[in-house]
Amino acid sequence: MTATLRPVDVLVIGGGQAGLAAGYYLRRAKADFVIFDAQDSAGGAWRHAWDSLSLFSPAQYSSLPGRMMPIPPGGGYPSATEVVTYLADYERRYELPVLRPVAVRAVRRGDGRLLVETGQGTWQAKVVISATGTWWRPYIPYYSGLRDFGGEHLHTAGYLGPEPLRGKRVVIVGGGNSAAQLLAEVSTLAEVTWVTQRPPRLLPDDIDGRALFDLATRRHRASQTGEQSESIADLGDIVAVPSVREARDRGVLKAEPMFTHITSHGVAWADGTTLACDVILWCTGFRPALGHLAPLGLRSPDGLIPTRGTQAIGEPRLHLLGYGDWTGPASATLIGAGRTARQLVAEITAQL
Ligand code: FAD
Repeated sequence: MTATLRPVDVLVIGGGQAGLAAGYYLRRAKADFVIFDAQDSAGGAWRHAWDSLSLFSPAQYSSLPGRMMPIPPGGGYPSATEVVTYLADYERRYELPVLRPVAVRAVRRGDGRLLVETGQGTWQAKVVISATGTWWRPYIPYYSGLRDFGGEHLHTAGYLGPEPLRGKRVVIVGGGNSAAQLLAEVSTLAEVTWVTQRPPRLLPDDIDGRALFDLATRRHRASQTGEQSESIADLGDIVAVPSVREARDRGVLKAEPMFTHITSHGVAWADGTTLACDVILWCTGFRPALGHLAPLGLRSPDGLIPTRGTQAIGEPRLHLLGYGDWTGPASATLIGAGRTARQLVAEITAQL
């Protein structure tokens, strides 16, 4: 790619599932568009997941528009590796114009268009869709003593499997799905303590990704008609996938209250209790990767960019896709990204 100030109608930043879903509908709308992806091959964040990660949604509930996720041999839930294969195939099948590796450094306002700066030149776009995900900004909450800890801080984003933790004393932090799933496997070979801000709440065994996506569908419909929709939050936070059920039956799915500070050799509570450990495994989530949009000055104090649907309120030529419910119901899931992308491309087509 040599051109500078090359014009295009729609420029999508990010070639993960959200960017590809946008590409599918842009292709159908015969739009003039291009997708930039910072990585050197397809798959987005799924390329970096730990070995044992499987979807908690069955294949039929984990598809992008137009093409079903193949059901894994023997049934069950697709693995992260199978998702990568599916996304690579998807991008080829629909001949999506993904240029990689192309990292977008900054988006600025130009004369009538948005200027998108990359290491390989600057492009001008009438509309930019930012779909850069969250994996690239792991979040670790601040606790006093954090930097004094002499052991290892490990975040979900850097976790590849349990083996490097064998025989170690590990404190796992977080009350969500990642924490429960990692606890299930790390506890088979390490001495594990689980700490959560509130007691962990397992969803009933019959509620898996299928039920969650049915709920997302109802919420999506409700959001379009302006009706109220029910919340699953009252039932629990953690999907009882097989490994989590096995850990529960083994009796290890018990959590301590959150510690109050960190010492040089472990963690400590306000009542003076201390616990020595070698590793603190932070399963504390991610934040949206929006650094490239900083020159537009759109962020609110909570770090997010206010939107109406997917459109940035402070810059109508910018849309955000896939970061979470704030950019469309369940838009950070495979099935939800497609639904939101469809609506987004309809709006952009009208906008152009
Ligand atoms: P990503 O996959 O992160 O893709 C973004 C792409 O943009 C990447 O390729 C990145 O390199 C690129 N990029 C970033 N910044 C730039 C830049 N400045 N310039 C150019 N390119 C850039 N969803 C489900 O549907 N079912 C599940 O069972 C499920 N389980 C999950 C389990 C875990 C542990 C996690 C973390 C997520 C899970 N999800 C699940 C959620 C969701 O599917 C993923 O978070 C998904 O990867 C988000 O896709 P995305 O396209 O928005 O972002």
